[in-house]
Amino acid sequence: MDITKLKAAVIADIDARYPQLADLNRRLFNNPEVAFEERRSSALLADFLDKNGFKVERGICNLETAFRGKYGSGRPVIAFLAEYDALPKLGHACGHNLIATSAVAAGLASRQAVDSLGGSVMVFGTPGEELYGGKAIMAAAGAFTDVDAAMLTHPGGGSRVLMSTLACENLKMEFRGVAAHTAGAPEQGINALEAMIQSFNAINSLRQHIKATERISGIITDGGEAANIVPAHTAATFIVRAENDVLLEALKKRVIACFAGAARATGAKFKYSWGEHYDAMVSNVTLAELFYENMRSLGRPVSLGENNVLNFSTDVGNVSHLVPTIQPLVAIAPGSVMIHTPQFARAAATERALRCLLDAAKAMAMTAVDLLSSPANLKKVREEFLKGK
Ligand SMILES: [Zn+2]
Ligand SMILES: [Zn+2]
Repeated sequence: MDITKLKAAVIADIDARYPQLADLNRRLFNNPEVAFEERRSSALLADFLDKNGFKVERGICNLETAFRGKYGSGRPVIAFLAEYDALPKLGHACGHNLIATSAVAAGLASRQAVDSLGGSVMVFGTPGEELYGGKAIMAAAGAFTDVDAAMLTHPGGGSRVLMSTLACENLKMEFRGVAAHTAGAPEQGINALEAMIQSFNAINSLRQHIKATERISGIITDGGEAANIVPAHTAATFIVRAENDVLLEALKKRVIACFAGAARATGAKFKYSWGEHYDAMVSNVTLAELFYENMRSLGRPVSLGENNVLNFSTDVGNVSHLVPTIQPLVAIAPGSVMIHTPQFARAAATERALRCLLDAAKAMAMTAVDLLSSPANLKKVREEFLKGK
C-alpha cells in the first residue's frame, strides 16, 4: 500500500472507532485516579489494547499501574505514551484522559502501517506524571531502550508542536523542635512552625533574585498539633524548577540555605531529601515537522512553534533524553484557561476536546507511517537526536 493510502486508512480507522474511543475517554474522565493509584484507568487501557491485538505486559518497571502494549516485531519501534493520572480534588484538570485515549487510538490505527511496512508500535502506560515522575522511573529501568521515536499529545490552551520545559526536582523537608505549653512554659519550647514560616519568608525574599524562568513552590504538610502546644515537628514539600540541571543544582543549594538559616535562627533541627527529578524536555524538530505537516493536512490549525521553554515540567523530559520525542500541545480551551483548574477539567470532558485529541492521534499515527515507511526520515530524526547529545 502506498503512503497516501496508508495515511487515509489510519484516519478512517480512528473515525470508525469513534464511539469506542468516546466511551473509553468518558470512563477515564469519570473515574479520576491520582498518581500511582490509577488501577481502573490502567486496566481499562491495557484491556482495550489487549482486545485489539496488542501483546500487553502489566505492572512493568515495578510500577503496578504501568504497562506496555506491543504490536508487530522488530525495529523500528514507534511508541505512543499514555498518561492517565488525575489531580487531587480537581479530577482530570490536566486532561490526561485525552492523552490516554489519543495514545491508544494512535496505537490501534498504526497497526495497519505495521502490517504493511514491518516494525512495531508500542503504547506505554506511564502512570504518576503529576507527582512521582513515572516516566523517570521507567526511563531509569530501561523501558525505552529499544524505542526509535516517542510521541504523545497534551491538551492545552494553545496549539504548538515544539517546546521545551523546565527541569524540576521534588523536595521533602522537616523541622524538629521541642514541645512545650505555649502559655505555661513557652521559654522551654523550640518552635518548628516558626522555623518553617521563616523558611517560607526567606524563600519569598530569594524569589526576587532568581531568573525569570526559575520557580520555587511549596506547601506545609504538617504545621503542628494544637495552638496550645509549641509545634515540635513540621514538614513541607517543595518543587524547585530551572531551565537546565546546572541552574537547578545552583538553585537547590540556595533553597536549602533558606532552611539552614531558619534552623539556625530558631534552634530547630532540619532534615531534607530530594525526590523525583524531571529532566528538561528536548523536542525533536524533525519529528515535530512531520507531525506538523500531518496535522495541517487534517485542516486542524496548529503552529510549529519554537523550541523555547514553557514554564512547567513533565517527566516526558526524561524520555526525551533517551529517545527522539515530541509532545505537541493541542488547544481544547481558550488560551486564558490554564491547566490544573476546574475550568480546564470541564473543557477536558467535552466532545470538542476529544475531537481535537483524536485529530492529534491521527497525526501521530500518520507520523508513524512516515517513520516506518522511510529509513531516510528515521535517519534524520536519529541524527538530530545524536547531535544534541
Ligand atoms: Zn498536569
Ligand atoms: Zn499534564
